[in-house]
Amino acid sequence: ARTLVTGGSGFIATHVIDVLLKAGHSVVTTVRTPQKGQNIRDMHPGVPQSKLDFVIVEDIAQPDAFDQAVVSDPPFEYVFHTASPFHYKYKDAEKELLQPAIIGTTSILHAIKKSAPSVKRVVVTSSVAAVRSKEKNVGGYVYTEADWCSVTAEDVKKDSSMGYVASKTLAEQAAWKYMKDEKPSFTLSVINPTLVFGPVAPHSSLSSINTSNERVYSIMTGGAKSGCPPTGTNALYVDVRDVAIAHVAAAEKPEAAGKRFLLIGGHFTNKQIVEIIAESFPSLKENLPTGEALEKGGEASIVGDYTFSNAQTREVLGIEFTSLKQSIVDTAKSLQALEQSA
Ligand code: NDP
Repeated sequence: ARTLVTGGSGFIATHVIDVLLKAGHSVVTTVRTPQKGQNIRDMHPGVPQSKLDFVIVEDIAQPDAFDQAVVSDPPFEYVFHTASPFHYKYKDAEKELLQPAIIGTTSILHAIKKSAPSVKRVVVTSSVAAVRSKEKNVGGYVYTEADWCSVTAEDVKKDSSMGYVASKTLAEQAAWKYMKDEKPSFTLSVINPTLVFGPVAPHSSLSSINTSNERVYSIMTGGAKSGCPPTGTNALYVDVRDVAIAHVAAAEKPEAAGKRFLLIGGHFTNKQIVEIIAESFPSLKENLPTGEALEKGGEASIVGDYTFSNAQTREVLGIEFTSLKQSIVDTAKSLQALEQSA
């Protein structure tokens, strides 16, 4: 089928494009600059432009951002909306996070409804951030797709550190509301990944590793040497290749319509990441903490406080989750390859 992927330069989108091409689909992806589009084309030498092409969408926060991009010949059947800001380097959460996330989501749904009647399924990349709520993280609570984060736009005005969580929660809520109010002819599926590890693309930049892999690169390069930092509350991982397969399965499977899918491979601690790197990359051992520096802060505070059920994802999408070890080893290998080519 002909597919549209927004934010093709992104970490997750790179893998979604890979899975789509391998499955025989053709892909058009939106990027902010021609160079980013060319980088994606260069990653797939031998794939003709009719199978992999790009269009420029500079700013998804514009309400008409996708009006042109959704129109294609042959017309699109599936749309994957992955583009959304994921970083903590913002000054104005409303402008830099909430608006691109929320307007980006509603504007693509609206553009499809208006101008792309051939689209059957839209898959939106949301997050576990839209599912988990602090007040439930106790007593072994088991999260499922029925849970929603309770954050509001008002909370962000009081505490801008809630910006990313709110951007994902409010954007996903806006998507389901659009489906309910506007009743478009396409159906919606949503992917809710936790912290994503996995191989980065060869054109990525070491100075701006995607947010979720920053932790692995920091540990590899000595960032935890004098003391392993606490794992924090985000102590669940999933591999990017599982996330990408889930996106494509969510588009292809009729029974995925109208559902959210938690993408969670399991718990991790920073200490485990250190141990996996130490075992598999002897040359990096001198950068890693040992003894007390390793024991001190590496354990997660939340193991046992809450967990997640990924039953729906396994049953409907058929996902088998990659192990933490495999994910970290492949992440580290890809980061080493980037270092060598820099
Ligand atoms: P990346 O930062 O690698 O990718 C984000 C993508 O969104 C990039 O293509 C970026 O373009 C694009 N983008 C951001 N803001 C804008 C904007 N205003 N206008 C146009 N394009 C924009 O992150 P990931 O691949 O990790 O994230 C992809 C999606 O997955 C996001 O929706 C994120 O919230 C979600 N997610 C990620 C998780 C993770 O741990 N990685 C966990 C859960 C959800 P450019 O490259 O030009 O900046």
